[in-house]
Amino acid sequence: MSAAAEGSAEGSATLGELGEAGILGDIFALLRTSDAVLVGPGDDTALLATSGPVLATTDTMVRGRDWLDEWSSAEDVGAKVVVQNLADLAAMGGAGTGLLVTLVAPGTLAAQWARDLTAGIASVADSWGVPVIGGDLSSSDGTVMVSITALGELPGGAAVLRSGAAPGQEVAVSGSLGRSAAGLELLRRSDAGWWPPQESAEVASGWVAYHCRPDPDLSQGPLAAAAGATAMIDVSDGLVRDGGRIAEASSLRLDLDEQAITRLAAEFEPVLGETTAVDCVLTGGEEHSLLATFPAGGAPAGWTVIGSTAAAGGPGPGVWWRGERAAGGGWDHFGG
Ligand SMILES: [Mg+2]
Repeated sequence: MSAAAEGSAEGSATLGELGEAGILGDIFALLRTSDAVLVGPGDDTALLATSGPVLATTDTMVRGRDWLDEWSSAEDVGAKVVVQNLADLAAMGGAGTGLLVTLVAPGTLAAQWARDLTAGIASVADSWGVPVIGGDLSSSDGTVMVSITALGELPGGAAVLRSGAAPGQEVAVSGSLGRSAAGLELLRRSDAGWWPPQESAEVASGWVAYHCRPDPDLSQGPLAAAAGATAMIDVSDGLVRDGGRIAEASSLRLDLDEQAITRLAAEFEPVLGETTAVDCVLTGGEEHSLLATFPAGGAPAGWTVIGSTAAAGGPGPGVWWRGERAAGGGWDHFGG
């Protein structure tokens, strides 16, 4: 546990010193609301006006497992956990309508960390016009955990599932692949004293920034739905693993285009080498770009076509790369 995250004897109050009412007052002051919030934080529940079916999802980050204080500020953590949730909504073709935030932390945690966490949450929530409508605070013996439940709606009326892809369609991605993984790789190498040479330092810093605070274009989710996306997912655990989820759910195979993947990897190759660069694109997680299938020629402007779908055939559903079924890779909370 880093000193930065702890209350110190130098005058910064801890959660324990401030008390629940004290910290909640600070947190509420940082949050905005929206017209759809009929009752916001402060009563037994929030009350939200809805226009139709409601999307609901939740995502949690745990200190030491999902972030390290040495690499990520409290603001980074807050921003990232909101993005993770909103990307799941976008991957259904949806947009957020409200967030419920839970913080579990020891009383020794600096109150400023909780304020900074809230500022990070508010920065992303505000930029997508999603209000924080409530939450919970609880204490622990040392664990710090931030959990968000996101509610959303479907601007186009229908959800895009993982199961709707058909053979002969194109596979496309909105935004980047591998930047978060490249940033994580650089953080690991920098701990061992290595940093890229001057000419690559700026672009490399961008990868680290993206790892700590991914910034996908979440408006592409509803846009893809309107454009006729047949299946969609956000890339949280890596292209191969998340693509495999579409392949499984749709009972087909995803053939990745070698030239398209190589072009995406070219950004990382001068710094990380070819093998690691391709690995970042294929298996890098926490990117939260959207991966979707469209009828041939149907991917919206700005999306990058990276492959096609085909009947599963004998080998069964899966992601194919260079003529072989791609090995899983990516992140698994319990498999490592
Ligand atoms: Mg997801």
